[in-house]
Amino acid sequence: MIPASGSYRLANARVHQSVTLGLAATFDSDGFALADITVADGKISSIAVQAASKVPAGAIDLAGRIVLPCFVDCHTHIDKGHIWPRKPNPDGTFTGALNATGADRVARWSAEDVARRMDFSLRSAYAHGTRALRTHIDSVAPQEEISWPVFETMREAWRGRVELQGACLLGIEGVRDKKWFDRLAKRVAAAKGVLGVVTYMVPDLEELLDHVFAQAIKHGLDLDFHADETDDIAAISLKKIAEAALWNGFEGNILVGHCCSLARQPDIEVLDTLDKVAKAGLAIVSLPMCNLYLQDRRTDQTTPRWRGVTLLHEMKARGIAVAVASDNTRDPFHAYGDLDMLEVYRMATRVLHFDHPVGDWPQAVTATPAHVMRLDGFGTLTAGGDADFVLFKGRSWTELLSRPESDRIVVRAGRAIDRQLPDYAELDELMVE
Ligand SMILES: [Zn+2]
Repeated sequence: MIPASGSYRLANARVHQSVTLGLAATFDSDGFALADITVADGKISSIAVQAASKVPAGAIDLAGRIVLPCFVDCHTHIDKGHIWPRKPNPDGTFTGALNATGADRVARWSAEDVARRMDFSLRSAYAHGTRALRTHIDSVAPQEEISWPVFETMREAWRGRVELQGACLLGIEGVRDKKWFDRLAKRVAAAKGVLGVVTYMVPDLEELLDHVFAQAIKHGLDLDFHADETDDIAAISLKKIAEAALWNGFEGNILVGHCCSLARQPDIEVLDTLDKVAKAGLAIVSLPMCNLYLQDRRTDQTTPRWRGVTLLHEMKARGIAVAVASDNTRDPFHAYGDLDMLEVYRMATRVLHFDHPVGDWPQAVTATPAHVMRLDGFGTLTAGGDADFVLFKGRSWTELLSRPESDRIVVRAGRAIDRQLPDYAELDELMVE
């Protein structure tokens, strides 16, 4: 359907107001308008409302099918991905995930093992239409010395297909060993990575956070936290991160993931936290699939009664940047998933009610994470921008989000890519006990 020449005109493309820049159109109540998209030399040369009622000669008639910009996935763990067959979660709990993954890391995460699983994940993400992806990288000694060089090699190998970013991952208690942590921050800076930790309500949390911020300032790093991935209402590390950002005068970007406990806290507590998050300019990413899997997991044969996601609507209403992302795929933290951001968006629509109205929620998987990741021009459709977009069969939200859209067409630099997904059997030899 898409000419191999890379030079063509798409007529009757259904584009969304929230992710299409500079289009003077009347958008319908779902945020859509029909437009002509002209592509040449890997770029979108123009997006314009169709002047004539007839499809222009030589144009490809999309007949109202939806065209969205390629996805940006700002929170993943492709170093953990796909270990499930050899290391399942014994009971589906967070503790089960932590222990199983830790044991697998110590026993199995050689450079080759990490590289092959990362490559598998990136091939899936690319095939599904993702253009940029941030992965957390388990950086508990000695894994940081194995995984960071693999990440750097992988980033080079994938440049131009998937823009890869890395953030180190360790429990905040690891920051107590300041000499080691400072060395890690230096290593992350050398790799042009992002400084990340998992925050828990440890007694010295504020002091440890100050040290994390000091290292980020010293090396000019952005920050990325896992915070409050629990139903414990006493978990308020999101607020502590916001306070630390304010009193350290931090000017870089901060992304905070999960923030599950916030949804369980009393309003007065929530309002205070959201005020501080907004003031500090934090961006928040919710991970609906992983949260559904791990949160409110019960081992007594009772049914979960809580979705696990954080308060994205309240945050957005205050102008806080909010995103959703994949998180874990086929590892003890989440038994499923394939880095398909359409699946994430579909799940988010259902779990978080990204509908009625849809408004600008499509930005949560495109423009907003692109902004947080400092990726100019990613996550939007615009004249003069890269011709990186996904053509779907669906012509409305209900059509788009009711089927997996496995036959979507992913266009990169103006050309349709080969969307073949990697075969699970490729990893079989890594899964032998
Ligand atoms: Zn995560």
